[in-house]
Amino acid sequence: MSTHPSICRLCPANCGILVEVENGRPVRIEGDREDPIFQGYTCAKGRQLPAQHAHPERLLHSMKRSDTGVHQPIESQRALEEVAEKIAVIVEQHGPRSVALYIGTLAGSHPTAGAAAVGWLLALGSRMVFTAASIDQPGKNIANALHGRWLGGPYLFDESDAWLIVGANPVISGTGGISSVHSARRIRAAKKRGARLVVIDPRRSESARFADLHLQPRPGEDPALLAAMLHVIMREELFDRSFVTQNADGFEALARAVEPFDPATSARRADVPAADIEAAARIFATGSRGCAMAGTGPNMSGHGNLSEYLVLCLNTVCGYWRSAGEVLPNPGVLTPPATPKAQAAPPRRAWGYGEKLRIRGFTNAASGLPTSALADEILLEGEGQIRALVCVGGNPAVAWPDQRKALKALNELELCVTLDIKMSATARHADYVIAPKLSLEVPTFSLHSESYEQSYIGVGYAKPYGRYAPALVDPPSGSDLIEEWEFFYGLAQRMGLALRFFPVRPEVGALRGRRQPIDFDMQRKPSTDELYEQMAKGSRVSLAEVKKHTHGALFQDETVCVKPRDPDCDARLELGDKTMLAELRSLLDDSRAGQDGGERFPFRLISRRMPNVYNSSAHDLPALHRRRRYNPAFLHPADLDDLGITAGDVVTISSDHDSVPAIVEAAPELRRGMISMAHCFGDVPERDAELFEIGSNTSRLVSVERNYDPYTGIPLMSGLPVAVHRTSGPLRDTSNPITGPDLASQGVRD
Ligand code: SF4
Repeated sequence: MSTHPSICRLCPANCGILVEVENGRPVRIEGDREDPIFQGYTCAKGRQLPAQHAHPERLLHSMKRSDTGVHQPIESQRALEEVAEKIAVIVEQHGPRSVALYIGTLAGSHPTAGAAAVGWLLALGSRMVFTAASIDQPGKNIANALHGRWLGGPYLFDESDAWLIVGANPVISGTGGISSVHSARRIRAAKKRGARLVVIDPRRSESARFADLHLQPRPGEDPALLAAMLHVIMREELFDRSFVTQNADGFEALARAVEPFDPATSARRADVPAADIEAAARIFATGSRGCAMAGTGPNMSGHGNLSEYLVLCLNTVCGYWRSAGEVLPNPGVLTPPATPKAQAAPPRRAWGYGEKLRIRGFTNAASGLPTSALADEILLEGEGQIRALVCVGGNPAVAWPDQRKALKALNELELCVTLDIKMSATARHADYVIAPKLSLEVPTFSLHSESYEQSYIGVGYAKPYGRYAPALVDPPSGSDLIEEWEFFYGLAQRMGLALRFFPVRPEVGALRGRRQPIDFDMQRKPSTDELYEQMAKGSRVSLAEVKKHTHGALFQDETVCVKPRDPDCDARLELGDKTMLAELRSLLDDSRAGQDGGERFPFRLISRRMPNVYNSSAHDLPALHRRRRYNPAFLHPADLDDLGITAGDVVTISSDHDSVPAIVEAAPELRRGMISMAHCFGDVPERDAELFEIGSNTSRLVSVERNYDPYTGIPLMSGLPVAVHRTSGPLRDTSNPITGPDLASQGVRD
């Protein structure tokens, strides 16, 4: 038995860990106390990495679907040959646009997967790149484009005394601008030093319990609440006049637009006390440093771009951006040296450029191509139809909104290829399933996590932290596994394409310095470590130096301060974007504002996170799901009483689009009239009877054709009107909380 430092890659937090290895296999994980950032922190998911590596259903060989629909193992190089040939034929017949790529959230934990995939697709001549970002929090990128970015960077939670979280739950998810590492401990420490926290969430979430003030509104009313907070801040002149005058345009237009959203009006809409809105505005605006931040809640419940835009407006009117002379806490390690300046990067186009889709008038946007339209792009016949799809780091069959349409589209593809560690719902629809190595079998480093801005989503590093981890174990003997980037490199080689790699996100490059794309050597395949060397070229700290510190290190050798504005810079942030303010005004005409659900669909289904899963991953690790493997439908106990159902009963949840079975659980922390459920559970409709084993797929309730954002395409995925009906008597899991009863024999069918 030996113990080795490494990095967990089950989610983008990338915690420092110690791995016990026995007979060449990982057997135990614990937090690495010598790691200066994570200091021994791990979560339950990370500690299950050995179980993931040794999972009996883990794919040890790539698979190919036969004509009869059965998947059989195929040698990986043979699979590459065949996929390359088939894609070449499709491109020859239908052009490069007929090939698309979908990148899911799990690709974000691996430094090379997404970048190599995009590089390959661009080399092929297609720009049809779709990612999970456009069905998660697309409003962020749209709002940043319309508002402009501040090149001094935002304040971080640990240095702030005023913080506003809208529809995020950092204690569970790690998002919300508060690092996933000991989030609860960080909030307690912040409050001890006098910081004040405001949370807006229809559920008294794990994070809301720490709030100095929790507003519990009707879902979908975030823009009205944020506008009312701006109204109060302007009326009481709590804004930073000097910052606004020097750095922002559109203040008067914004003031006019928020004028009708006085606290009483917004309070009626959102069903919260007007005094709480006023108090929230005062708490937020009277800090010395702070940040407002929105999560999936407002992004998924309609008007997500507007919510994110108003969040940025709050930060700007309060002057909550790092000013000249202030120290940048993280000047970068494996990124190029940061060059922060107290000036704006001006607004840019947020949509209406690049690739045009054939569906609902969508174009490329700051949030990427709309994934909600991808199924239709596959199904719609004619010029430009997508005929081949390659998926990496995602499970579209359960993650894409409008599940039945997604499944139909996957079935219609001429070629569906997915890289997956198991025969997931998507893999079972794929012609080829490429089996990748797992995290402890490949090296990694902290560059890609560094690329996340901490207060942007919560992950990333507040300090100049760097860490590298070599591959610790070989893949299981007899297996035939390849890394994700090797798959795309292999395809490019076979298709005679020159692969190019874009290592740093463009939005990060604005603050941290840009990096030139990397051209792969297509004659001699590089090693993963050689790739990392190239990716880290020109970094503030060399990768060789980072590698010397096996437990990670802080590279605080220099102090980088925000420089004053360039003398010739006249860029300004935009508070008065016309489209956003018109959308805000349109809310005043919404005749349904201030009402709870209607007669047919009296409940609102809201999204939530569950601690032991990361989107569609970690559902199959038994130690994490001893109590239950499903995603309960949480309702307020008084609503359960009114419906005549009790916790553990099976119900049918119906929207105006579809229905799913679910198991109810009481949640007194919810507003009445809400149902709160986690997404990415369940499987195809034919498996609904296994409800107690796999949970319910909430994506099925969502239509992508109604109530969608015109730019990002994200449909209403939270705050969705639904009805709840008991399923033919009080069906309960009386046998085994893991396996559950045979629901098929009791009438629970799709
Ligand atoms: S928070 Fe994420 S990276 Fe850290 S141990 Fe948990 S799963 Fe792994």
